[in-house]
Amino acid sequence: MPSRDQHFYHRSGWLRAAVLGANDGIISTASLMMGIAVANQTQSTILLAGIAGLVAGAISMAAGEYVSVCSQMDLENADLEREKIELIDNPESELRELEEIYIARGVSRDLSKKIAAELTQRDALGAHARDELGITDFNTAKPLQAAVASAISFSLGAAIPLLIAITLVAENLWTLPFFSLLALALLGALSAKIGGARPIKGAVRVTFWGAAAMAATSLVGSFFGIAV
Ligand SMILES: [Zn+2]
Repeated sequence: MPSRDQHFYHRSGWLRAAVLGANDGIISTASLMMGIAVANQTQSTILLAGIAGLVAGAISMAAGEYVSVCSQMDLENADLEREKIELIDNPESELRELEEIYIARGVSRDLSKKIAAELTQRDALGAHARDELGITDFNTAKPLQAAVASAISFSLGAAIPLLIAITLVAENLWTLPFFSLLALALLGALSAKIGGARPIKGAVRVTFWGAAAMAATSLVGSFFGIAV
């Protein structure tokens, strides 16, 4: 039976992934546009670079997530297949294997025997998957859903510097890094809070990397801006 804690854990894991995707979207899109802007390009070129960055980043995130979840699933399925065969071929040694696992975790030998026997009777594959292979929620991975979710979270993040570029950059270029870093700091604090860490630490960490990325592309932009 799923407990309240598990529910919270699952939701926070999902939320954390979304926040990290949005971080990526802000950092890469803002950095890309900073590079173009510092190279003395027009606002329409800056926006074009930002939109191209959003599309490329969202698709690349989706592809990366899809491939990663699929290969994780392949690995788990291969492990489960092997386990299924072992359970049919050597049920005795599989039962002992399970007993040893509980003993190693600190359960007494007698009780381990009882637990292993009962779990084997009820759902042998489930017990081996969970306690031997560490697969807790098998057959629940959804590669396409994960791909779409990370593309969306990246796009939402990327939309922040794009909106800044549309509304404020014509007035003052430095509004782009300023508000992008502000958004990053807020998201960093949020993701730290979700993960149970100190918000300030999370905010400082992600803001530092965001600033470093924007400084790097600005440097490249100023170099090529002069060279061209
Ligand atoms: Zn086994």
